[in-house]
Amino acid sequence: MITTHGDRPRRAPSRAQLPERPTWWAQAARDVARAVVPVQCAGCAGRDVRWCEECEAPWWEVPLRSESAAPRLDIPGQSPLPVWAIASLTGTNHAMVSAWKDAGRRDLDAFFADAARRGARAIASAVAPAITVVPVPARRRSTRRRGIDLPLLLAQSTAAGLRDAGVEAQVMRALTIGTGEQRGASARERWRQASSVRAMRGGAVPGRVLLVDDVVTTGATLAAAARALEMTFLTVAAGFCLASAPASGARAVGQVS
Ligand SMILES: [Zn+2]
Repeated sequence: MITTHGDRPRRAPSRAQLPERPTWWAQAARDVARAVVPVQCAGCAGRDVRWCEECEAPWWEVPLRSESAAPRLDIPGQSPLPVWAIASLTGTNHAMVSAWKDAGRRDLDAFFADAARRGARAIASAVAPAITVVPVPARRRSTRRRGIDLPLLLAQSTAAGLRDAGVEAQVMRALTIGTGEQRGASARERWRQASSVRAMRGGAVPGRVLLVDDVVTTGATLAAAARALEMTFLTVAAGFCLASAPASGARAVGQVS
């Protein structure tokens, strides 16, 4: 007789004395686990899935140019910064981003890292042949609370996606929010207060920069980051975000500026 893993000969004697483990027990165990740590879709709160197909779908879309919806993205003396975003920051998309950033849904780290990587592949031709990927840093207390540097995660995934598509891309943490950070400060103020730019070795990386942030709303943060980098040899060429807030809450699906 051929023994398989399913025969479990060593445990058979004791288990043979017991009634078959009832299936209700396994179901009850899952119910208890769910009561302690409810599993629900991060977008629509549907039960028993971490994210449902409908809420996942927008994150597979090809990124769209979004700078026209960001009124404060203007950088005096420069043409508007091209900014791509994968999804609109509305509805279940917004809920998923909030769950990820603010509600401790660390299971979404890989989800959004994958989304960034896919999106970066799609925009690679626009930033070829080489680019330096710079994360827009999160506040330190946010990173402490989350236990993970989300902007850095996104930047690394973005660079990986660009490399997938043949672009020479590497991450440089060229920006940092300084000790002048104040509660309630606007993005512009925060960056003005910041030490902002670390000492860097010039010429070691491509001078063109792709700024990466989780979301773009008014564009003020990206604009401030771009201005901070003006003091360096780096020049911001474009921005890339997971999601962008619609200009008036009514941006048409598929609209490209
Ligand atoms: Zn859902």
